[in-house]
Amino acid sequence: MRMLILDGKIASQKIKDDLRDRVANLPTGARAPHLAAILVGTNGASETYVASKIKSCAEVGFKSSLIRLDESVAEDFLLEKICELNNDAGVDGILVQLPLPKQISEEKVIHAIEPAKDVDGFHPFNIGKLVQGYPTFISATPYGILLLLQHYEISTKGKHAVVIGRSNIVGRPISILLSANRNYGNCTVTVCHSHTANLKEITLQADLLICALGRPGFVEADMVKPGAVVVDVGITRVEDPSNKKGYRIQGDVKFDEVAPKSSAITPVPGGVGVMTIAALLTNTLHAYLQRENLVE
Ligand code: NAD
Repeated sequence: MRMLILDGKIASQKIKDDLRDRVANLPTGARAPHLAAILVGTNGASETYVASKIKSCAEVGFKSSLIRLDESVAEDFLLEKICELNNDAGVDGILVQLPLPKQISEEKVIHAIEPAKDVDGFHPFNIGKLVQGYPTFISATPYGILLLLQHYEISTKGKHAVVIGRSNIVGRPISILLSANRNYGNCTVTVCHSHTANLKEITLQADLLICALGRPGFVEADMVKPGAVVVDVGITRVEDPSNKKGYRIQGDVKFDEVAPKSSAITPVPGGVGVMTIAALLTNTLHAYLQRENLVE
């Protein structure tokens, strides 16, 4: 059976090229779209993610700002910064890199971001719109998965999608989107989680298997139906003394054994992770176009 690698680097580059063209063709004198990122502390993975987002902004001609706050920052101070960005007419998108230190409520932070600038799509207002099928900012990782399926024209209509994981940022929204009456939706969806009994029996029925649990190498070949499309969302840093960084990135799927059974599969890295950034940039452009009344 021919197996297709769903290459996020290729698909995200195409999206970034399109975004760069759209920015280059903005009306004369228009300001550039502007993404503001807040990074609290010095967590290695968060530093890497934020740096990639800032670099990608530059690649497509967006302005970006990085606000760094100390690990010990008070919640009120962070909320005040978000308020300033909400009120700044020159800022289109705001992202606060998660996770946050213990003294800060992620919920309060997510709720504090103005929904029109919530380009990560985490605010309950935007999630509510997503659930009801209204146009909104789709959370960046689920949106990235849809854009990847779209790039490779993977038909989802009538397929059985099994999603492992029910988090608010990945599992829950992607399960809703895949079940919706929309392009790259119309699946019959089963959502699995840490209390699911007989997980393997369910995953073996999946035409499309979305793995978002954060357990490196959890999904093995005997859990996958031959010919399934497998999307690996997991990103975990696993200790690896042979790597000069001291770690390597591993997905939730045992790629080497699952790939030969699947009809299409995402690699880690170079799959969903890079698509998440492309989706974030796409949301930021839409936020900008709405603010500037430039929506076609
Ligand atoms: P989370 O910890 O919030 O949720 C994990 C989910 O997996 C939970 O709903 C839990 O019920 C489920 N789960 C845990 N163990 C299970 C088991 N044994 N069987 C079935 N279900 C189980 O995680 P998250 O924030 O959704 O992230 C999941 C993974 O995706 C992580 O590796 C994270 O780093 C990665 N991630 C990647 C991107 C990206 O851009 N590619 C973005 C967000 C998260």
